[in-house]
Amino acid sequence: MPTTSTLETIRRNLDRVRETLSAAADRSGRKADDVTLVAVTKYAEIEWVNALLELGERSLGESRPQQMVERASQFPSNVQWHLIGHLQRNKVRPVLPIADVIHSVDSVRLLDRINSLAKEIGTSPRVLLEVNVSDEAAKDGFAADELLRQAAGFSQFEHVRIDGLMTMAPFADDVETARPIFARLRELAGEVRARVSGIHSVRELSMGMSRDFTVAIEEGATIIRVGRTLFEGLERPAS
Ligand SMILES: *Cc1c(COP(=O)(O)O)cnc(C)c1O
Repeated sequence: MPTTSTLETIRRNLDRVRETLSAAADRSGRKADDVTLVAVTKYAEIEWVNALLELGERSLGESRPQQMVERASQFPSNVQWHLIGHLQRNKVRPVLPIADVIHSVDSVRLLDRINSLAKEIGTSPRVLLEVNVSDEAAKDGFAADELLRQAAGFSQFEHVRIDGLMTMAPFADDVETARPIFARLRELAGEVRARVSGIHSVRELSMGMSRDFTVAIEEGATIIRVGRTLFEGLERPAS
């Protein structure tokens, strides 16, 4: 059980994020319910995660496949797990039965691997394609031109649902530098949507983190991934 002070701190942080989310959704002509908040727990203590669950949060984001799999066995089965970090092809099998959404599909080879394992297991996983919109050398994800080149071939993947795109904006002091990146992801989703058919809706835009989720929502984010801000003011137990 979380202590009262942990619970109250996270409650305040969560309330603030929800209010900010709601105001930004308003500005973009949408409802707060149209934007899903994924609470990123990759650096969170177990106690903090318990507090989030007690406060009604159900969508949790983890960046390491192994930690997601381990935690899935420690928390209630109604948690929706979002894998947001890099996934190697040889780690797909344990992840598939657990992840509600895989946000970080960054190559056709990985997509192909997920598709064939999903066929074997008999599931239909939801995935997002990660796009390196800003074309940073050190970053995972499809380059925008490569994504468009490959898109016509996505319809052949019938056991995986390409629900949308995901991106991370570059670190910058001014969050406004993220705006054109997010706007470009929205355009790209439309361009991919026009090239695919079947079960691939390509409607979701997973974009925006603690520092830039307001801008992301204004530019059409349907999923934001927020970690740090939710845990501000908490002390880690001495180990
Ligand atoms: C860690 C992480 C986040 C959350 O970032 P915060 O700054 O903690 O809000 C979002 N997306 C991805 C892919 C991450 O790795």
